[in-house]
Amino acid sequence: MTRISDLLGGGATLSFEFFPPADEVARKQLDETLDELAALAPSFVSVTCGVGGDGHDRTRDIVRGICSDWPFPAMAHLTCVGHTRAGVAALLDDYAAAGVANILALAGDPPDGSAISGDFRYAAELVEVVRAHPAGFSVGVAAHPEVHPRSVDRDSDRRHLAAKLGMADFAVTQFFFDPAAYVRLCAELAQRECRRPVIPGVMPVIWPQSIRRYAAMNGSTLPEALFARLEALSGADRIAAASEAAAELSQSLLDAGAPGIHLYTLNRPEAPIRIAEMLRSCGSL
Ligand code: FAD
Repeated sequence: MTRISDLLGGGATLSFEFFPPADEVARKQLDETLDELAALAPSFVSVTCGVGGDGHDRTRDIVRGICSDWPFPAMAHLTCVGHTRAGVAALLDDYAAAGVANILALAGDPPDGSAISGDFRYAAELVEVVRAHPAGFSVGVAAHPEVHPRSVDRDSDRRHLAAKLGMADFAVTQFFFDPAAYVRLCAELAQRECRRPVIPGVMPVIWPQSIRRYAAMNGSTLPEALFARLEALSGADRIAAASEAAAELSQSLLDAGAPGIHLYTLNRPEAPIRIAEMLRSCGSL
């Protein structure tokens, strides 16, 4: 199975993020979305993981299924929250046995805002364990262009990120709407001699109310004019306008040197298809 680190640098990548469906109806929706997005020949896809209960098992089952049924690699998200070293080792063995070659190592967020429990506190500790596994996984980490909300200040955010990313192969960012935030992040990493690829995560605003909630948790700044415009639209009109805004942001990021675009799909195909078509029609992907 292809390692994402081997794809980066060979032309701009296009990737899609999914979350594990909660029930059979949602599972059918994800399968239909995968069918439609597969036609775009993505460079890779990724699957998030919930931090409680059987979150990692559900992610593992979906990632294994994609890797066996589709020609593109699927990256499994793996969080610190609630995990023991033995549990992570067993999960990595499962992934290796299934031919999964790509892991996104994350801290995760405890659902009630409490301290992170388990054997790991910071994502960097997880990166070390994934790196040490004999399967030779390609390892990604999260980056926060607008600074992680738990960071003491910007400098410590960038210092810890540069150290973490220095041990990994690439980063994928939290969503944001101002290309300048990405450019500044890359410049601040370069000042710390960290030049690993940072793939920007782009969120098409198809459900403004939900995205407002996510942004409040992530510390992402919202462009109020865009949100007001999208909130006044509905159905196909909103999807068209949200896709156009996301394609414009993606174009600016590619122009600024981004190694690819990672689209948050919310398990729906309409906006990612439009965005990919717009970027491909002008030769950007
Ligand atoms: P870390 O790198 O551990 O950083 C968290 C905070 O700790 C930062 O403020 C950092 O500066 C600080 N820090 C790091 N190291 C140290 C240190 N040694 N000493 C002191 N402070 C330190 N969450 C999920 O639950 N499931 C998912 O599937 C998921 N997917 C994601 C995908 C992407 C692309 C992104 C960007 C985020 C995702 N998240 C997911 C959210 C993520 O888990 C949260 O943002 C989490 O709060 C931080 O994760 P991290 O890996 O950046 O943490």
